[in-house]
Parts: sequence; structure tokens; C-alpha cells
Amino acid sequence: MATDRNDALKLDEQDGLKGLRDAFVLRDGLNYLDGNSLGPMQKCVTERVGKCLEREWGQDLIASWNSAGWYRLPQTVGAKIAALVGAGENDVAVTDSTSVNLFKVLAAALSMRPDRNVIVSERSNFPTDLYIAEGLAAFADRGHELRLIDSTDELEGAVDDGVAAVMLTQVNYRSGELHDMAQVTKRVHDAGAVMIWDLAHSAGALPVDLAAADVDFAIGCGYKYLNGGPGAPAFVYVAPRLQDEVSQPLSGWFGHTAPFAMEPTFDAAPTIHRFLTGTPPILSMVALDAALDIWKDVSLGALREKSVKLCELFISLVEERCAGHGLSLASPRDASKRGSQVCFAHENAYPIMQALIARDVIGDFRAPDILRFGFAPLYVRFVDVYDAVDQLLRVLQTEEWKQDRFMVKGAVT
Ligand SMILES: *Cc1c(COP(=O)(O)O)cnc(C)c1O
Repeated sequence: MATDRNDALKLDEQDGLKGLRDAFVLRDGLNYLDGNSLGPMQKCVTERVGKCLEREWGQDLIASWNSAGWYRLPQTVGAKIAALVGAGENDVAVTDSTSVNLFKVLAAALSMRPDRNVIVSERSNFPTDLYIAEGLAAFADRGHELRLIDSTDELEGAVDDGVAAVMLTQVNYRSGELHDMAQVTKRVHDAGAVMIWDLAHSAGALPVDLAAADVDFAIGCGYKYLNGGPGAPAFVYVAPRLQDEVSQPLSGWFGHTAPFAMEPTFDAAPTIHRFLTGTPPILSMVALDAALDIWKDVSLGALREKSVKLCELFISLVEERCAGHGLSLASPRDASKRGSQVCFAHENAYPIMQALIARDVIGDFRAPDILRFGFAPLYVRFVDVYDAVDQLLRVLQTEEWKQDRFMVKGAVT
């Protein structure tokens, strides 16, 4: 394990993924450890979006739906993501936002179990997932109940024969805890319930195998580890065995079997297409499309190996060098139970993170007391980990976080 800056530089020398950082626009001196919230831009995106603006929209206009492949983007971009999550190339569609896709797959799951009325999730799940379930339960008005557990250890007791669906996020957005997808899915299926996984912090962060785990539905984000840009379209996976059978309530024309037949009644496409709703945001789709090309040459095994090393280095350096400053590890210590992020709790987490950001080390704060650092292996270097801890130590030693300017909260934290 590296103990000084030179050791960290040596690890970077030996890193098989080191060449990939060059693809990104990251200004000198910026130590970006927030790619789990908003991935940075790649240079190729400027060109691709520029071409879409100037040529496809600017010159060719409506012909581009066919000639530039706009119409097929939900599938062509979906196929690139499918390769990262262990799905068949026709089993992922890129569309809408994660929240909206959750609404669709959860509604589909509930309709598969009409005689059951419980949705199980974790209390610590990302709030939008819980809010969407609440909203759908109220809208469906069939007495659905949201049952929240504090840990997947409670699944055994919580998933009884009244449970229609279990929806979990594979890597917890705050703690970074990683669930065993295959094991949990099997337990949920054994209890007769439908399994939905949110891959917001998994896709592009670690190897995922949806098909091997026999998952029913999955959703995930385009703007985190997939670097698709702010508000990038999200993705939805539906197991091939279900695609022709389940329905979802946002039955817009892009989900129709023949949208341009302009028929007055809805006839769901027999494929993953039925999970589309309306016209996709093409500028955002092409940005995500271009951003995904980098994955062609990336081994997910090597990605995971580097991610684990980055996180282990961060934990050991913080615990060694910042000892006595009130930080405690808030992520699983066991790397096999952790995603690609590390959190430390501190009672003054908010101003400490603001002071770090002022020093160009960008992590984020998660209420109430969490300092969160994401280690995206495509562009984060071992020396960045070393330097981040160095800056953290300075912020703590100098107590500069006590300055008033670091107490002010913006609308987005
Ligand atoms: C980031 C994230 C989301 C975001 O949903 P949006 O609809 O894109 O705002 C949803 N779920 C989880 C678990 C997330 O981490």
C-alpha cells in the first residue's frame, strides 16, 4: 500500500487504465472525486454534439431521424450499456430519467402480481426511489403498502407471500454498500416476488451480470459513472422472458408496435420498446452515445480491481494520516461489500467538504453528516487519492472549515 506520494505515482505508472484519463476534459489541479454524482465530459462529446447541431439538426433537419439514426438511439445506446450490465444487446433501452423508468418497471412488476400488495425496499434507499413507490401506490389505489427494511438481512422475514416486488439499489448512494445481486434476487424469487435493481451506482463502476442473476427489471443513470452529461437519459432493462408479456402505464407512441401507423389505439411493441414513452432528447442522447464509446476497450475486471485499490488506499491514508480528527468510516470496510465510493462521517461534514472544494478537491456532502468521495477508475489516479487526503488533513489541521463562508448552503449539495 502506498504510504507517500511517490508510491502513489508508481501505482499510476503501473495502472493498465492510465491512458483513459486523457479522453476527459479535466483541468489541471482539479481533483474530481464526484463522478458518482456527475461524471466529467469527454473531448469526443463536444465534437459529436457539435456535429448533431450543425449537420444533423442544422442542415438535414427532420431527415436525421432516419439518416443520422436518431430514431434508433434508444436501442443503439442501450446496446452499449447492455454490455456493461450483463444484458443481451436488445434488452436495454435508453429513455427518460431513472425516476420515470422506476415508475414504469414498478408498475409493470405490480401488474405481474395482482394478488399481492406489498413493495419492499430499504429505508436508506435513494429518496426518489421511495417517493416514486409511494406515488405509484397512491395512484394505483389498490391498497399497496411500502415496507421498508434497514438491511437486506431482514429480507427473509420481510418478503412474505404478500410481497409483489422488491426494489433495491445495488450500491447504496450514501454508504456505498454493495448487495449480492444473485443471492438477493434468488431469495426474492423463491418468495414469489418480482425483483427490481437500481444500478445508478453500479453501471460503469463495477461488473454487473443481470442475466446470470435472472433479474426481472433494472434501471440506472446515464450521468454518473457513464459520464453522459447533466440530466443524461437513463436506462431500463427488462428480462427477455418478460418483454412481450408485461405492460407499463406510460404507453406513449414510442412504445407502440408501429408509431408511424398513427393508429388510435395502443398496441405495445413486442420488445423492450414498449418501455419507451415519447420522443427522446436527441442532443442528450448523442452526448451519452459518444461518452459510452470509451468502454469498448475497458475490461470490467480491471476496472473493478483498480476501483478496489483506489478505495483501499483512500481508507488507509485517511485513517492513518487524519487520525484524531473525528472522522469515522461510514462505508463497509470489506471491499467485496463496497461499490466504488467511500464515505466518512464527521459532525462538521458540510463545512469540511466546502473547505475541501475550495481547495479543488471535489467530493460531496450527504445529509446529515457524510463526506462522500467517488473513485471512478477511468480517470481518477492514485496520486489524486494521495493529494485528496493531504488536503483533507490540512483542512482539519488548520480548522479553516470554521470560516463563515463554508457554512452557506446552496440549493444543490
Ligand atoms: C442518482 C440516483 C437516482 C436519480 O434519479 P433521477 O431520476 O435521475 O433524478 C435515482 N436512484 C438512485 C439510487 C440514484 O443514485
